[in-house]
Amino acid sequence: MKQKSLSLILLRGLKGNCPNCGLGKIFKNWFVLNKRCSHCGCEFQSREDDTYFFMYMSTGFLTGLFIVAMFFVFPQDFRFAKLVLLFASVGMFLLTHPFRKGLAIAIDYFIEEKSDYPKRRQGG
Ligand SMILES: [Zn+2]
Repeated sequence: MKQKSLSLILLRGLKGNCPNCGLGKIFKNWFVLNKRCSHCGCEFQSREDDTYFFMYMSTGFLTGLFIVAMFFVFPQDFRFAKLVLLFASVGMFLLTHPFRKGLAIAIDYFIEEKSDYPKRRQGG
C-alpha cells in the first residue's frame, strides 16, 4: 500500500473526509462521528478517545486568542462586552468543532499508520 503524506491526511481530516481513502465522510452530523468509513471501512468512532488531547489543546488555543484580543479591545460597556465574549467564544468552539475533530481523527490515523502497534481496521 502506498504511503500517504501527512499533508494529504490532514487535509482530508480538515475537510471531514476519511483520512485513509478521502471518499467517506467522518461525520454523521456536525457533532457525531460515523462508526466507520462507508467507502473503505476505516474506523472513526473508536478513535474518538484518542482525540481528546487535541480537542483540549485546540480549545485552549482558541481561548488564548480571545484572551489576547482582550488586551487590544477596551469596551465602554463591560456587561455587553462579556456577553459578546461569551457568545463569540461558544460560537467559535461550536463552529470549529468538526474541523478540529476531523484534524484530530486524521492525526490519530497518521500516528497509528506510523506505529508498530496492531492497527484498527483501516480499509484497503
Ligand atoms: Zn475511507
